[in-house]
Amino acid sequence: MPIKESLQNIKSTLPNHVTLVAVSKTKPVSDIMEAYDAGHKVFGENKIQDMVEKHEIMPKDIEWHMIGHVQRNKVKYMASFVSLIHGVDNLKLLQEINKQAIKHGRVIECLIQIKIASEDSKFGMDPEEASEIILSEAFSELKNIKVVGVMGMATFTHDKIQVEKEFKRLKSTFDNLKTIKTENCELNIISMGMSGDYQLAIDCGSTMVRVGSSIFGARNYN
Ligand SMILES: *Cc1c(COP(=O)(O)O)cnc(C)c1O
Repeated sequence: MPIKESLQNIKSTLPNHVTLVAVSKTKPVSDIMEAYDAGHKVFGENKIQDMVEKHEIMPKDIEWHMIGHVQRNKVKYMASFVSLIHGVDNLKLLQEINKQAIKHGRVIECLIQIKIASEDSKFGMDPEEASEIILSEAFSELKNIKVVGVMGMATFTHDKIQVEKEFKRLKSTFDNLKTIKTENCELNIISMGMSGDYQLAIDCGSTMVRVGSSIFGARNYN
């Protein structure tokens, strides 16, 4: 199916309060421009270098989301333009994002990645760790970042019951963390759900879905 049609099909099924991040990783600029020309402006990449290259040559009203694991030494390359960093899972990374945001006179919005999957390979903090960090003195000094929500990735499995359990865990973590309101922390986003499970994620409370292959087709990593 053409990109424009897939995009419109998915958008027509999303409730108004859910933001669609079109995950364009590995896809060429020509594919992304098809989605852009169909009116879509929010794209997600998982490699900083790829996102930087695409940002340089594409229209400047695109909102670029970093959805992948972030290496501290690469934050500087995206600090001038990134609109939301989904995968923040430690205080040192928050401190680096803050430092780079200061250089550009910006406040960079971040989501705390919570580990909800049972697989060891998935990054993220435990809920307890997240609240400890948000309540810490060191965190309160970070005036150029703002934590606006949480992000999670469910286990890669066909077991819907397990995925649902993990999504509900993220929702209840969000509900708990939401009670903490500080100058640089005010949660209103739950980023969960991908091509295979975004409808279930929305049923469990997602407000932001990250959909790639259902829009752009299968990825080829070669
Ligand atoms: C690739 C990716 C997605 C999109 O996956 P699809 O199954 O293609 O929709 C969503 N979130 C993250 C973090 C990803 O890396």
